[in-house]
Amino acid sequence: MTDRIGDTPPTWRAQTNLVRGGTRRSEFNETCEALYMTSGYVYGSAEEAEAAFKGDLSRFVYSRYANPTVAMFEERMCLLEGAEDARAVGSGMAAVFAALLCQLRAGDRVVAARALFGSCHFIIAELLPRWGIETVFVDGGDLDQWRDALARPTQAVFFESPANPTTEVIDMAAICALAHEAGARVVVDNVFATPLLQRPMDHGADVVVYSATKHIDGQGRALGGIVLADKAFIDDHLQAFLRHTGPSLSPFNAWLLLKGLETMDLRVARHCENALAVARFLESRPEVRRVLYPGLASHPQHNLALSQMTAGGSVLALEIAGGKAGAFRALNRLRLIDISNNLGDAKSLITHPATTTHQRLPEEDRARLGIGPGLLRLSVGLEDVADIREDLAQALDTAA
Ligand SMILES: *Cc1c(COP(=O)(O)O)cnc(C)c1O
Repeated sequence: MTDRIGDTPPTWRAQTNLVRGGTRRSEFNETCEALYMTSGYVYGSAEEAEAAFKGDLSRFVYSRYANPTVAMFEERMCLLEGAEDARAVGSGMAAVFAALLCQLRAGDRVVAARALFGSCHFIIAELLPRWGIETVFVDGGDLDQWRDALARPTQAVFFESPANPTTEVIDMAAICALAHEAGARVVVDNVFATPLLQRPMDHGADVVVYSATKHIDGQGRALGGIVLADKAFIDDHLQAFLRHTGPSLSPFNAWLLLKGLETMDLRVARHCENALAVARFLESRPEVRRVLYPGLASHPQHNLALSQMTAGGSVLALEIAGGKAGAFRALNRLRLIDISNNLGDAKSLITHPATTTHQRLPEEDRARLGIGPGLLRLSVGLEDVADIREDLAQALDTAA
């Protein structure tokens, strides 16, 4: 975003902003947000180009820096998150990487929850130490471990809540308070909750990142990511990092993501409704040892989850009796639910984390995270919930 664009009345409510927030119409008065597939912009004079590069003139200069369609997406996301500013990038991982690396340098220290999406874990466990940044992992649900780890000066704290794939929930207000005492900025990967169910900044988070690939697109079409923060963080850290390293979001993907936002509220509400019904159904099945879903009363952090989120989300984990063989048998018998490692999609998708998203982790690390050989992660889609239930039932029947 160059400057705030569009004129969005401050009185608009969330659902109106999802449909209209940040829109800037061109001289052609199009209804739908315009798709500006352009890498560059032209200047009326040499003086204008000079002024633009000096920063005296606020305008679009080059689409690696900013683009009008991408800016509409950023503005709409700021309105939704209640954030001062944002930068969109080409994927969720580009957002995580940039949000951390733009603020860190050799000698810094990062504390993170152990339960993370595989690639987030790679950045923190492998890349940061390679560049002289100390990283410390804690069990996210254990406040004492956070307290110990944050007893020393720290520059950044990172976690997902709920975490992928076991839906571990982090006490955001408590961890943010400890982090701030240690001098750290808190970066939250809020993919599982979406900005509709949970706003980490309301609980003290400084930076929020999304894989827009998930519920924001929500229809399996496009990769995207975004980093939201206050203006000072964007101006002092993120802006230059992104400009000069270039993980830009395509205007075409930004346009798809804008379309995704228009219906996200409806989709996420249905996702949550379907996921809760499926979680309850799975709990009743003898072939299923354990169901982890923040919206279930049996979730170990159910009360904490619902104090931070307005619903349980779209993703649940289930542990099948019979280990890997039992889990694979069930997967291979599904007819409607697809085997896929994506999530937040209109289509129900299921994956076996131990051999896919988390296969890179050593087995003892997986065991510690509760990612056993029988664990499956199910992203509940928007199909008729009776069809989803029937598909699971027939797969479990024949797999047993
Ligand atoms: C998918 C995911 C990411 C990565 O997003 P991409 O858009 O695939 O790069 C990061 N964090 C979490 C929690 C995710 O689920």
